[in-house]
Amino acid sequence: MDFAYSQKVEALRKQVRVFMDTHIVPRIRQWHEEVNAGQYPVSFIETLKEQAREEGLWNLFLPHLRDDEPGTRLTNLEYAPLAEIMGRVSWASEVFNCNAPDTGNMELLHMFATPGQREQWLKPLLDGKIRSAFAMTEPAVASSDATNITTSIRRDGDDYVIEGRKWFITNAAHPNCELFIVMGKTDLDAPSHRQQSMVLVPRNTPGVKVIRNVKVVNHVAPEGHCEIEFKGVRVPRSNLLGEEGAGFALAQARLGPGRIHHCMRSIGAAELALELMVERSQARTAFGKKLHELGSVAQSIAKSRIEIDQARLFVLKAAWMIDNVGAKEARKEIAMIKALVPSVHTAVCERAIQVFGAMGLSPDTPLADSWTWGRALRFADGPDEVHLQSIARMEIKARQYEPGKENPYLLASM
Ligand SMILES: Cc1cc2nc3c(=O)[nH]c(=O)nc-3n(C[C@H](O)[C@H](O)[C@H](O)COP(=O)(O)OP(=O)(O)OC[C@H]3O[C@@H](n4cnc5c(N)ncnc54)[C@H](O)[C@@H]3O)c2cc1C
Repeated sequence: MDFAYSQKVEALRKQVRVFMDTHIVPRIRQWHEEVNAGQYPVSFIETLKEQAREEGLWNLFLPHLRDDEPGTRLTNLEYAPLAEIMGRVSWASEVFNCNAPDTGNMELLHMFATPGQREQWLKPLLDGKIRSAFAMTEPAVASSDATNITTSIRRDGDDYVIEGRKWFITNAAHPNCELFIVMGKTDLDAPSHRQQSMVLVPRNTPGVKVIRNVKVVNHVAPEGHCEIEFKGVRVPRSNLLGEEGAGFALAQARLGPGRIHHCMRSIGAAELALELMVERSQARTAFGKKLHELGSVAQSIAKSRIEIDQARLFVLKAAWMIDNVGAKEARKEIAMIKALVPSVHTAVCERAIQVFGAMGLSPDTPLADSWTWGRALRFADGPDEVHLQSIARMEIKARQYEPGKENPYLLASM
């Protein structure tokens, strides 16, 4: 495995960095001012999207685009360092049409949509004209186990009728969000992993009601993590995505690359937090010394560097694995980075907050928001524990204990 950035990737890194420094970073203040004043999407987002697309910095995340689809066709390994740069500003990835959950939804539609569904939904998503949401989690059941989902998708003539309640549905408050990919149950008598299906629900379908945008650690995300009611929602059967009963498998396929994109961006967010921590530690003096000369601050800086570099290499390995053996074969690496990287993200932010003093908890630095998002990522796309459980299962399966067989490394029997 060679993780050195190729010339092509170095050139793209420079291009994305210059784009960020020229067009995005100078607008951070304006973004906050407009969002705080209730203007969302912000006034300049479409102009920036057009500029990014003109520069060829568009849909960088999809390696297997068709000839007529816009994008760069980078591998996951090539995309990782670019997503890292985007991760430095919470809203930057949308400028490049690389933001979650649209990326995962585009991947899903790319793999499973019918020609009609592609035309109606995938095309405008790839063009950045609309936004979308993925609706699986429910308030009533432990949704880290997708077999618990209770939303019903019932056949009625040529239609499906959907009844249920979802929450924490990202993007649902985005005014351009026109599509909900809804996971529910079509057959309660099927084996537990074949009961689920996914249907495409246009946002304006009667019976779809966004109840509220749920705050996350008391922080309101303008794109929303919403609670949504589906009451007698009727869509044609042609809105089924994939086959009936394939919902669980589709969810697995969707979450693989999506998880790694979050991790790539988290590395960038942690890197920014470390940069700010280092600068602050040089700018402030306490007890006659610069902060970095005080032992624990220096340790915070060093530990953060070690953890970020470890995490980056691990993410690159997972990206390499997806490119070379496929997401299915790379599932242990994907689970490992998903269980690791959000904790690195929050740990580095936490240390940076401490080094900043009280200011670290204020909205005057990106640290509190970044910590909040890192913390949320320990749930989004499955909580840490579920990933740890899968990793442990794979480890245990790979090394079976054989009763009676001596282990030559031990000096006594087990
Ligand atoms: C900011 C944010 C955005 C989100 N966006 C979306 C979205 O767009 N669409 C969507 O459908 N969902 C979304 N989610 C929801 C997320 O996917 C769920 O929160 C997650 O899957 C966990 O489900 P749950 O909240 O029901 O927790 P539960 O399933 O009730 O789990 C609670 C806790 O039980 C423990 N636990 C669970 N399983 C195990 C296990 N196997 N071993 C040990 N302990 C375990 C863990 O501590 C876990 O945190 C989002 C969440 C957040 C915070």
